[in-house]
Amino acid sequence: MIVRTRFAPSPTGFLHIGGARTALYSWAYARKHGGKFILRIEDTDVERSTAESTQAILDAMRWLELDYDEGPFYQMRRLDRYREIAEQLIAAGNAYRCYASKEELDAMREAQRTRGEKPRYDGRWRPENAAGKSPPNNAAPVIRFRNPDVGEVTWNDLVKGPITFANRELDDLVIMRADGVPTYNFGVVVDDLDMAMTHIIRGDDHVNNTPRQINIFRALGPKLPEFGHVPMILGHDGERLSKRHGAVSVMQYHEEGFLPQALLNYLARLGWAHGDEEIFSMEQFVEWFDLAHISRSPARFDTEKLSWLNQHYLKESSGTALAPLLAPRLRARGCEAADDDGKLAHIAELLKPRATTLENLADAAVYFYRAVEPNLGLREAHLKPEILPVLNAIADKLQDVTWNREAINAAIKETVAAHQMKFGQIGIPLRVAVSGGTQTPSLDATLELIGREQVISRIKKHL
Ligand code: GLU
Repeated sequence: MIVRTRFAPSPTGFLHIGGARTALYSWAYARKHGGKFILRIEDTDVERSTAESTQAILDAMRWLELDYDEGPFYQMRRLDRYREIAEQLIAAGNAYRCYASKEELDAMREAQRTRGEKPRYDGRWRPENAAGKSPPNNAAPVIRFRNPDVGEVTWNDLVKGPITFANRELDDLVIMRADGVPTYNFGVVVDDLDMAMTHIIRGDDHVNNTPRQINIFRALGPKLPEFGHVPMILGHDGERLSKRHGAVSVMQYHEEGFLPQALLNYLARLGWAHGDEEIFSMEQFVEWFDLAHISRSPARFDTEKLSWLNQHYLKESSGTALAPLLAPRLRARGCEAADDDGKLAHIAELLKPRATTLENLADAAVYFYRAVEPNLGLREAHLKPEILPVLNAIADKLQDVTWNREAINAAIKETVAAHQMKFGQIGIPLRVAVSGGTQTPSLDATLELIGREQVISRIKKHL
């Protein structure tokens, strides 16, 4: 058997963290078993689906490098197929047209509630109940699935173990709306069958839908995929993850300067474990991944751990790899940096040990491209009158040295010594003068990269 899995987002918003993790698990399962991973856009909620959301989901998948082998398929382009299968179900006695109006159904539910019953469709348009009843004029019917009345639906969930629902808990659900658009539970079954899915891995908010889907699968033939329902992701406070907890959109993490490797590693580990392993590549993850080690309880999102991983992956990345990721962020800060900027690769190499995100790195890199003025407080604290002559002498000395770290370092040391001072006394003032702040990587490397002309003019400006 060839494993076939899918990710089936509804394009009603950006790709959020929970969706990305589900996609990652489905993808990894297919990759691990040499199978196929399919992307399907479930756009049947016409009111809420947008082209922008679809694009945002595709962009996020690309950024995370969750490559799919087939698709994207769009459900709204498959309406004929759903209609065809619905007719098949009607012909076989497994579905029927229901003409009950909304008002009628509301009244039915109200009456059930008053009698202390659970509101459910009472089967009034089931063929045996509707015999002799003629459909009301001009009323477009919906199509309902005829759910079995008795018995149980059981499946062995790949994450949660055996799950059973009694059929009497499920009523005859609408599978086709009056406008010819399938409902979620129907579109998903037709597609999962047509697309030959073997493993359905999705969020456990769908557990209640699965028995209904299994009944529809059974009405359509012998094939039934396996199901694995992954627990939700909660915020650090145990509440369902929402905007309140910070970023929930994958692409917002991109904007904030997280590396896809870090987010993927984080999501892989969130609710799944392989011993104590915390840091691993996607290759390694695919090799280790199994549904049996997905936790049965909800995971809690921990921004600090994600930041820690991001820091790790930044350190691991070469300056050359970071430069093209930083260049657009620097251009957004008014710096002229090309994607293949060799200088930027050096800068990234110097700055990465202290950065948590690409945004921090870009902030820290600005003074290499343009002068950043120190604020008044820094000027008063560090550019004191007794220091200025030494800075001036350093600037003069730097005029003629060979422009490399060793020579720059020697020039500063000699000048400081000639003024009976210590290197330590001049480090911060020099940094404030050339970078606008007190923290830079080693001075000689920093000055070398800022460039002779800029270093001298920035110092002289303060004299
Ligand atoms: N469109 C559904 C969702 O976004 C997919 C559920 C499924 O994977 O079956 O929740």
